[in-house]
Parts: sequence; C-alpha cells; structure tokens
Amino acid sequence: MNRPPELLTSPSNPLIKSLKSLERKKERTETGLFLAEGARIVGQGLACGWTPETVVIAADVAERPQIAALARAAEKAGARVVLAPERLMSKITQKDNAQSVVAAFRQRHLALTDLTPAAKTDPLYIALYEVRDPGNLGTILRTADCAGASGVILVGTCCDPFSFEAVRASMGSLFDMPVASASFAAFDAWRRGKGLTLTAASVNGTLRHDAAPFAKPSVILMGNEQAGLPADAEAACDHLALIPMRGGADSLNLAQATGIMIYEAWRQRGYA
Ligand code: SAM
Repeated sequence: MNRPPELLTSPSNPLIKSLKSLERKKERTETGLFLAEGARIVGQGLACGWTPETVVIAADVAERPQIAALARAAEKAGARVVLAPERLMSKITQKDNAQSVVAAFRQRHLALTDLTPAAKTDPLYIALYEVRDPGNLGTILRTADCAGASGVILVGTCCDPFSFEAVRASMGSLFDMPVASASFAAFDAWRRGKGLTLTAASVNGTLRHDAAPFAKPSVILMGNEQAGLPADAEAACDHLALIPMRGGADSLNLAQATGIMIYEAWRQRGYA
C-alpha cells in the first residue's frame, strides 16, 4: 500500500456497525453488499473480478506478504482498505475465531439470459426449487463449482445466496458459479428454448439416477427441503430420477442428493 491504512479502534465506529449490519437481509438488500470472510475467499472474489467496497484486515497480520499483496490488489480494485484489532474483526462476523480478512462485496443478480455456458461444453445447470437452507445452498454452489457445472438457478422463493451462512458454506464458489433467479414458468420456458433436458431428482422417481441421460445439455432440478417438488413441476420434467435408499429415512439431505446427481452427470460425461 502507498500510505499506512486507517486503523479502526472503536466497536462503535460506523464502518464496523455497517459491516456487521450485513448479517441482516434488509441491510444487504438496501446496500446491495454482502460479506465474505477469509484471505483465500476474499482473494478468490478479487481474482474472479468481483468488486470489494471495503476490506478489513486484522492489524497483527497486515505485514504478511500474502495479506499485504491482497490489500494492494483490493486497493487497486478501488476498495477502501482498513486495519482493525482482532476483537473488532470478531465483532463484524460474530465469530470467536475471527478471520484475518473480511470484505464487503457488491452483489450480482443474474437473469436466465445472463447464463452463458463455456464454449465447447454441453451445459449442465443445477436448478433449486425453493431452497430454504443457506447452508445447503452454499454447499451446492461449492459442489457445482467443483464439478464444473455451468450455473445454478434459484427457482421461486429461495434463501439468500449472499447471507453469511451461504457465502461461508460455498467457500468462495459463489464468486465462480453464475447464479440466476427465475419463476418456475420462466425457467421451464427458458430451458425448453435452449433444448435442455430437465431431470428432477425426486423420491417419486421412476428411473434410477444413474440411468437418467446426462450426456446432452441438461438441467438437474432439485426440490425443497421439506416439500420436495410440486406435482406441476414434476409433470414438466423429462425424467424423474430416484437415488436408491434402503434404510429407514424417507429422503437424503438436499445438498447430498444434489452432490450425487451432479457427480453422476459428470461421470456420464467422462469427467471431461
Ligand atoms: N419430503 C420431501 C419430498 O417428498 O421430496 C423430501 C425432500 S428432500 C429432503 C429434498 C430434495 O432432495 C428432494 O426434493 C429431491 O430433489 C432430493 N432427494 C432427496 N432424496 C432423494 C432420493 N432418494 N432420490 C432423488 N432425490 C432425492
């Protein structure tokens, strides 16, 4: 950094208060910002071209070469970079073991028309019908990213992908994975227009999940944690796939079921 960064010292500093307020959906909506924690995740956001407005760095680690490089990159991207003692870092994220870097990034909201799969690949999208648990959503973003999915579509009223919990569970994949939102009707019209096969994972499935065809451009549709998929959504699908179960539980956890489906699709594509 060219000049010594500002050092925050008081928990009543307005910047600390406004960053802390981003735990609430209302404040995230009003400001259009969200928080990401951890040097690796904040670095990933910067590397993916997301814009941080503010970056707070724990004063005791600011001189470390990796952290100093991150501070320089954040400043170059136009962020306000400040230092804070560890006790204030944990105030922002309400965690005892505070991360050494916390950043407020500007949110991005995509429409279906913004989704553009990488050239020369058959697209594979993951659609989540009214996902409500941010931990599930973040975990699914991470899995979709690991398997190189083309994007994730939030169908209907879903939880906020920019909540603390979702961002944490995504481990930075939120920055890599395009996430669009749509009603079911708009989503279904879009996927038909694109020639995407729609396969739902459902406990009502008649086809075993590894018999569902994923070699062609596809969407995997997953149901809500409590209610699954409504009958009209299942009726719109080309295939309903069941992941076998033999214990007493009536279903798998949503994020785990999604992981099994995504990896089956990728297996059928030869992990290419
Ligand atoms: N009671 C809900 C139901 O009837 O669908 C259970 C919902 S389950 C926790 C959440 C979603 O995970 C389901 O809608 C489905 O997409 C997927 N899922 C869970 N277990 C599955 C299985 N064995 N086969 C296929 N999909 C499954």
